[in-house]
Amino acid sequence: MLFPKKLHIVSFGCQMSAADGDELAQPLLERGLETVDDLGHADAVIVNTCTVRQHAEDRAISYIGRLREWKEQRPEGLVVVAGCVAERIGARIRRQFPFVDLVVGAKSIDRYPELLEEALRRRFDWKKENRGAWPKAGPARLATKSRSLPPRSFSSGGVSGRYQRPDAAAVPEAYQADGAPVSAYLTIMRGCNYACTYCIVPAVRGRELYRPFGTILEEARRLAASGARELMLLGQTVNSYREGGRDFADLLRAVAAVEGIERIRFMSPHPHYLTARMIEAMARTPAVCPHLHLPVQSGSDRILRRMRRNYTVRQFLDRVDALRAAVAGIEITTDFIAGFPGETEAEFEASLDLVRRLDPAATFCFKFSARDGTEAASFDGRIPEAVIERRHQRLLQLAESRRQAHLEAQVGRTVRVLLEDGRHGHTEHYVNARLEKAARPGTIVAAAVVSTAATGLRCRCA
Ligand code: SF4
Repeated sequence: MLFPKKLHIVSFGCQMSAADGDELAQPLLERGLETVDDLGHADAVIVNTCTVRQHAEDRAISYIGRLREWKEQRPEGLVVVAGCVAERIGARIRRQFPFVDLVVGAKSIDRYPELLEEALRRRFDWKKENRGAWPKAGPARLATKSRSLPPRSFSSGGVSGRYQRPDAAAVPEAYQADGAPVSAYLTIMRGCNYACTYCIVPAVRGRELYRPFGTILEEARRLAASGARELMLLGQTVNSYREGGRDFADLLRAVAAVEGIERIRFMSPHPHYLTARMIEAMARTPAVCPHLHLPVQSGSDRILRRMRRNYTVRQFLDRVDALRAAVAGIEITTDFIAGFPGETEAEFEASLDLVRRLDPAATFCFKFSARDGTEAASFDGRIPEAVIERRHQRLLQLAESRRQAHLEAQVGRTVRVLLEDGRHGHTEHYVNARLEKAARPGTIVAAAVVSTAATGLRCRCA
């Protein structure tokens, strides 16, 4: 049986999942496989799954089902299913899709190279394998954005969903003409020590694990050398990072010192770890973008307790105020959930009030949906779907009006756009920007904002 040569990777879900997809590809890339965008041209496929939203899980399962035919046409093909769905219902996947060669759950990602090796050994004749005939894997391409389903920008309109930002919105690939990434993901930790009652992540990803400080810097340098100008540090509670006496603030400063890195973003921070040290690091490290996506979820203290978010509205606002005082011009974006079990009309109104007080540049509005395996799935006080829908629509409308106001306030100003392709990029506030004339990808240009657009801003080089 011939060893595969062409690898197709598909990631469902959030940025963490996208970054994991690239990491999962690495052992195969090191064995000489090349990535292809078209499944029809592939003879190996990695399906990296996400279970945070039921929708993402359903899409992943349906995709795996469709691979049956693909596999029938090429019995030598290799199918790997990884990630959170694999963790949650791995046994079912093995039963339902016996053609899958390897199912590896999110908690086993550290053992993945070893498990893959075993699966390959079962399938292919090692003695006949001639590694020398294969090209060496190219420059490190871990955690770049291009092979995943990218998240919708914070500036996108009509944002709606369940607990994670919607995926698969077609933003242009963050690649320069020579194929080097302009904007790259860099995973710094996995798992979560919290236990929000609506969230499946701790069950499928386990407790927090922090990547060694030095390894992160090594990868940052490698990505910078391959052309990255912006790094998005990723982790479920990214700012809880700590390792060897150093914390997230230290990491921000260290990554900013990597030559070639001009912008740093991170996702998703937890309000609890928005400490004075972190705020100071953000304020004093020019490479850290003046934008923070800080999920709040509800404007009601009672609902926040029921969600087990471990902060009150007042504490959340105090931290944001401190951040705004320290970092000039910072924009805040956030998440809300509408229709959490037991949420009264007054508590929902409190969420609307909080949108007004917080004045986020963009808000991701999610409808509560009970996920099997979470505590909230068994909570009493379920809100009827029609009510959830109505609350969600009201939240969306308010969020959209705030978003438009923030965009319009930019018109006439000069923004700095990191160009990801000739005409498209992001401002320092992570707003999509489109230039009237093309410029070189990978450069940061000063651009005058001419008008707003459905997806962000239209700009002209200043
Ligand atoms: S902090 Fe809460 S919502 Fe975020 S990953 Fe952990 S449990 Fe889930």
